[in-house]
Amino acid sequence: MLNNEDFRKHAHDLVDWMADYLENVEDYPVMASVKPGDIKKQLPLSFSEESESFEALMQDFEKIILPGITHWESPNFFAYFPASKSKASVLAEMITATLGVQGMVWLTSPAATELEDRMMEWMRDLLGLPQSWTGSIQDTASSGTLNALLTAREKISNFSINQKGFGGMPVYRIYCSQEAHSSIDKDVKIAGFGLDNLVKIPVDENFAMIPERLEAAISEDLQKGFHPLFVMAAMGTTSSTAVDPIESIAKITQKYKLWLHVDAAYSGAALVVPEFRWMSAGIEKADSFVFNPHKWLFTNFDCSLYYVKDVQALKNTFSIMPEYLKTGADEEVNNYRDWHIQLGRRFRSLKLWFVIRSFGAEGLRKIIRQHCEWANWLKQQIEIHPEFEMLAPVPVNLVCFRFNNGKMNEQELNSFNEKLLKQINEEGKIFMTHTTLNGKYTIRWVGGHPDLTKAHVERAWEIIKNYIS
Ligand SMILES: *Cc1c(COP(=O)(O)O)cnc(C)c1O
Repeated sequence: MLNNEDFRKHAHDLVDWMADYLENVEDYPVMASVKPGDIKKQLPLSFSEESESFEALMQDFEKIILPGITHWESPNFFAYFPASKSKASVLAEMITATLGVQGMVWLTSPAATELEDRMMEWMRDLLGLPQSWTGSIQDTASSGTLNALLTAREKISNFSINQKGFGGMPVYRIYCSQEAHSSIDKDVKIAGFGLDNLVKIPVDENFAMIPERLEAAISEDLQKGFHPLFVMAAMGTTSSTAVDPIESIAKITQKYKLWLHVDAAYSGAALVVPEFRWMSAGIEKADSFVFNPHKWLFTNFDCSLYYVKDVQALKNTFSIMPEYLKTGADEEVNNYRDWHIQLGRRFRSLKLWFVIRSFGAEGLRKIIRQHCEWANWLKQQIEIHPEFEMLAPVPVNLVCFRFNNGKMNEQELNSFNEKLLKQINEEGKIFMTHTTLNGKYTIRWVGGHPDLTKAHVERAWEIIKNYIS
């Protein structure tokens, strides 16, 4: 066990370790080059009965764990979507861990609730969202979308499904595009609608939902006796950051009185920059909105913001009032345990506060603008290169491309690009991942690290190009 003196000493050493790590992170291969089971077989089958020294723990951490880490913190990490954090955010997490606050109700740490109140307002204004919206910080977008589905379900049934179950209820239908994130599939299952009632609407040549096809699907469902309930529009899909036309979709959801949820998990960060607000045009007609600062707003995982228009419906859906949680302040404050599924909650607003204040709104805008500018630079290089081609538009900072020398059929191109990506990643200098668009194996490059520079982007392009020459 560590006493306070040990804690002080090891914490100082650890901060040095952390700063060294961040300084040298580019020396590690970005993608961990271990095989399945490599790490586990170095871990003893059983735990120690005796207390071990902190030095022993750190030694094993460096020897066993670190080689099995993929370095998300490297500016050469261009895979998936980033889980980009910043130094200000790490420092806030250290405080959060030290305080050990469990912020389930206001009384369990009034500052945790009230800072969250204010951060939800700051972020709403920073993103240009409607003034009347409110919400809370959750773990992930998957949870936010589940909240939206459950609230829509309860509101339409006058809060009776919570009480009585689905028996005798109409068959509700949920709509999203074919390119929507898989979390909606999971959430539809969990919310009890049944996956067969999730209708996937076709997309256009830019991978955005076609509103006419949405309306056609709704009409068809009405004719069949189904009850259309909920539409999820993607503001930035995961495969290609395609933007569903929220304004046109909202006209349809208003006409048929459906719940409109906007999944802006990733691209929501770009709304801090006014030039990107074309993506959210019509947002005031939505009923709910989810966005992850832990992806591209430099805040440690996890931090996902969920906003709703009708907060009373949200609270009616989730509220419980056991005797042991009642407090004298319940009428005057937000008790966020009633705003989502879990009871216990981390003090997540502190890191968001540190991030916004440490970068400043203008600092955040500058970095987001640069990332998008550099992604567009990369897009131009790909377009002028005779043996590479773009496979999707670049609304923000994700570039979808592949090698194509015009001499291979689609099947050959797919396996060639798969091999190309594997080789690049195994070399360890950069790390990218893939998707498929229109059946084409697509390499995804996304630059969202706060320390990313144009030089990193140019180097990445050199590495990619050199593979085929
Ligand atoms: C990442 C992502 C999600 C899911 O995110 P979690 O927070 O991990 O649940 C949902 N939608 C989109 C568009 C995403 O990019």
